[in-house]
Amino acid sequence: MATRKLKFKTELNQLMDIIVHSLYSHKEIFLRELISNACDAIDKIRFESLTDASLAGDDVAYSIRIVPDSEKGTLTISDNGIGMTEETVIRELGTIARSGTKAFIENVKQQEGKLSPDLIGQFGVGFYSAFMVADKVTVVSRAAGSEGSVCWESTGQGAFTIKDAERGGRGTDVILHMREDAKTYLEGWEISSLVKRFSDFVEHPIVLVTQEEKDGETSTKEETVNSQKAIWLRSKSDVSDDEYASFYKHLTHDYADPLHTIHYSAEGTLEFKAILYIPENRPMDYYMVEPKPQLHLYVNRVFITDACEHLLPMYLRFVKGVVDSSDLPLNVSREMLQDNPLLRKIQTNLVTRILGALDELKTKDYEKYCKFFAAFGSTLKEGVTRDLANREKVADLALFQSTRTEPSKFLSLGDYVDQMSEGQDTIYYLSGDNADMLRHSPYLEAFRERGQDVLLMDEPVDPFFADALGTYKGKTLKAVDKGELEEEEENEAISEETQTAYEGMLGKLSEALEEVKSVRLSRRLTESAACLVAEEGEMNAQMERLMAQFGGPNGAPATPRILELNPEHDAVKALLALYDEDSASEDVTEFGRLFLDQAIIAEGSRIKDPAAFSRRVNMLIARMQPGS
Ligand code: ADP
Repeated sequence: MATRKLKFKTELNQLMDIIVHSLYSHKEIFLRELISNACDAIDKIRFESLTDASLAGDDVAYSIRIVPDSEKGTLTISDNGIGMTEETVIRELGTIARSGTKAFIENVKQQEGKLSPDLIGQFGVGFYSAFMVADKVTVVSRAAGSEGSVCWESTGQGAFTIKDAERGGRGTDVILHMREDAKTYLEGWEISSLVKRFSDFVEHPIVLVTQEEKDGETSTKEETVNSQKAIWLRSKSDVSDDEYASFYKHLTHDYADPLHTIHYSAEGTLEFKAILYIPENRPMDYYMVEPKPQLHLYVNRVFITDACEHLLPMYLRFVKGVVDSSDLPLNVSREMLQDNPLLRKIQTNLVTRILGALDELKTKDYEKYCKFFAAFGSTLKEGVTRDLANREKVADLALFQSTRTEPSKFLSLGDYVDQMSEGQDTIYYLSGDNADMLRHSPYLEAFRERGQDVLLMDEPVDPFFADALGTYKGKTLKAVDKGELEEEEENEAISEETQTAYEGMLGKLSEALEEVKSVRLSRRLTESAACLVAEEGEMNAQMERLMAQFGGPNGAPATPRILELNPEHDAVKALLALYDEDSASEDVTEFGRLFLDQAIIAEGSRIKDPAAFSRRVNMLIARMQPGS
């Protein structure tokens, strides 16, 4: 085959540019990334050969070899892993960009090209980190079961070439033509210190191959530089924070340290070891890729898969890590992993551990817990709707803003209950898109007057959370924009006299405003004139908006709501006066409609006819007389 020249996908060009220019002070991570890829490739062939031994053949002494050559100025990282076909090379190293790349680039642009470690932490840099240290990279690879080999080469500038190559056996060589300022990575001591620091626990031997001069003779020296001790098999007291962090980065390609680490060994009827990590940041593609829990599964130290979906429930999908079980058979197939009773038992155990660890974190290091919750709280809350057995525990872990918390500070349901006034047996909440907007909502007026706190639920999952939970510690959760407000004090009742005075006008408006179920007087308003409420058990505005989002183009049918008017408000009183003067006046309906529009805006929805709204407001302004 002649040499073919192919262009990188645009996003990859931009990505490489960012990596090379922003990470120059962390160049050394290239080695970890390439070792990690080599290790994955070995894990893959070992797993495939469990079911088809011919794939691996005789070459089962798996290893990763690092060969510096100071004369040529190259550093070669070789593995006898699964290798790549021409098609794979083209696809994986140039033409497809990983999901999240676009979002990542956008994000960097917004920060004017400055890449904070936090940001890169949300996006693994992988293979392309090679261009931080090399001005040219050559990859020679031969896929398992294939006769031919392929050579990929690029200077990282917009394009790469593909041609045939010769490689003795299965596997991949990544040859880095080192930049002048990266020649230090050709030194044996530098390489072994980096391997020890970043990749010590890699289960396959990482062999450093150097040339030794002795008595004028040159000989090749091979030395395994990693201890190969699977970190999860060691006892907790033997593993340093640094080692946990390195292992985490190896697993996830995250750049940042994990926020929290859980390491334990289950003994008794169920035996397994686990290291679980809670990342500090939400990965860049968290909302873009199909959400799935993904733990690495090993059986007796043999890698089975890096994406086992069956070890964690969906709502804990942010947890990363490994599970090593000695109870599963080694030749477990991917199909066997589906619906496996043993995995289900392991899952139950992991869930208990994770929820327990989060609870402990919340008690012992609340600040760190809040950081966790800001990143993954909305995912965790799904547990209330999905995991009946752990519903209470998940509810204990949930945090919310409330009318009493300062902006971006939180409180738990437990805190809310502890601070409830005597005799209060309801947990009040208001749901909407944004807590800051909710703080100004008219629905809160009566509660402010009473000195009662209201939870401000501003995430899409929240109304579902509240519905599924129903009660917490014996207290009912109630949306403040639904149903009647219970009277807590004598003076909250509307006098019979007021009711009678308004009866006619309310009747007229109920009839004229056909989009509402009825119009009634409100006890929940003190400052505003009007608000819309849903009947108990029906959908409120936020739920309706969410259902419309999830329910496709037609959405859910809108349920008519009840318009409540504040009888103490001057504007409402003025409308009554107008009605009493001429009950047939068109203006009564027009202004009644204006109250309805205000209420729609206040609940965060959109009014149907903004032009008519403006017309009515202008009509009012036009009536203003100077000095009146
Ligand atoms: P990631 O490893 O996070 O998927 P990379 O950019 O590092 O991203 O690598 C892209 C892909 O290239 C890998 O998913 C893998 O399919 C392939 N690849 C990279 N290095 C090797 C290797 N040494 N052996 C086999 N395949 C490899």
